[in-house]
Amino acid sequence: MQHDPLGGYRRLTIKIGSALLVDGDSGRLRADWLKSIAADIAELKRDGRDVVIVSSGAISLGRRILGLNAQSLPLDQIQAAASVGQIALSQAWRDALAEFEVTTGQILITPNITEERRHYLNARTTISTLLALGAVPIINENDSVATAEIRYGDNDRLSARVAAMVSADCLVLLSDIDGLYTAPPGTSPDAEHLPLVKAITPAIEAMAGGAASHLSRGGMTTKIEAAKIATQSGTSMIIARGTVTHPLKALIKGAPHTLFTANQSPAAARKRWILGSLTVAGTIHVDAGAAKALISGKSLLPIGVTKVTGDFSRGDAISIVAPGEQEIARGLAGMNHEDAKLAKGKKSQAIIGLFGAENRTELVHADNLVLLHAEWGSHHE
Ligand code: GLU
Repeated sequence: MQHDPLGGYRRLTIKIGSALLVDGDSGRLRADWLKSIAADIAELKRDGRDVVIVSSGAISLGRRILGLNAQSLPLDQIQAAASVGQIALSQAWRDALAEFEVTTGQILITPNITEERRHYLNARTTISTLLALGAVPIINENDSVATAEIRYGDNDRLSARVAAMVSADCLVLLSDIDGLYTAPPGTSPDAEHLPLVKAITPAIEAMAGGAASHLSRGGMTTKIEAAKIATQSGTSMIIARGTVTHPLKALIKGAPHTLFTANQSPAAARKRWILGSLTVAGTIHVDAGAAKALISGKSLLPIGVTKVTGDFSRGDAISIVAPGEQEIARGLAGMNHEDAKLAKGKKSQAIIGLFGAENRTELVHADNLVLLHAEWGSHHE
């Protein structure tokens, strides 16, 4: 048996480029191909994996529907094409996966969703909830409202941000090429295929050539950028050929690809991010019961909070202090400081009374919490 390159991963983000989904000449959806990858995705779901799809194709589908044939379009027409094409794209995914009884949800992302922590937390939570409910999130950039300055413009980097945001352990970029070569294989006959990249060195960056095809914005350069984002977030990345039918099945059976290995787990990377790159905007003092609950892996609920200080917003980093003034954890605030002060010491039911059932009742969700002193509870029985 061949080694299954996807075998060890539980949460996969799969990026699908326009050139795979949309026929370059006719501008029509490649329906048979879509059906084949939907079958592969359903198979991964049956195996208990979480699958998040980042799909391009809105602009190229919308171009055909609107009859916009010029090679290069002004930004307003690109945005109009994206708006029209996104409907067709979502519908195509919904229909293709529905054949296999898999439900889809659509999420459109603008860069500020991934950069701004409040939006980031919401997008992360919604995607996790979709996954917990067994659905497949279908993600694209919100091209029809994104301004040129804040657009990603390519789904390679967008998919890497998404993979990091959802703590995926692997990102698969399905491309028209089966991985990274030492030189562009089309023009350099001695180009060698690289099956494994352990570190993205300047030499690796230099191997990335220019843009690939007129339909996909991303050439190898944006794929290497994506690999940097992914591997630093604990997500391994695979570039594989997507042009064949059943591309994921082909990969699982050992089709050539390039693997960029992450040198840490997504959980470790997230921990480092929460601890390292964010300044602490507030402090929450908790009672002994809450401290023990946190150490056993639970979320921080307002009932155990005794004091709230600082001016923090939802998504800011906050410090959690146990009786005896010991900082036991850091986390991302699930509410702003005003709401935290109102909620302090109250039961979840009373908080629903205060803020309404549609608001979250955790002050810090367990997923957004990093413990600093796992041994605290034992000294404070
Ligand atoms: N978001 C664009 C679309 O849906 C594609 C960007 C890309 O090809 O990377 O058409």
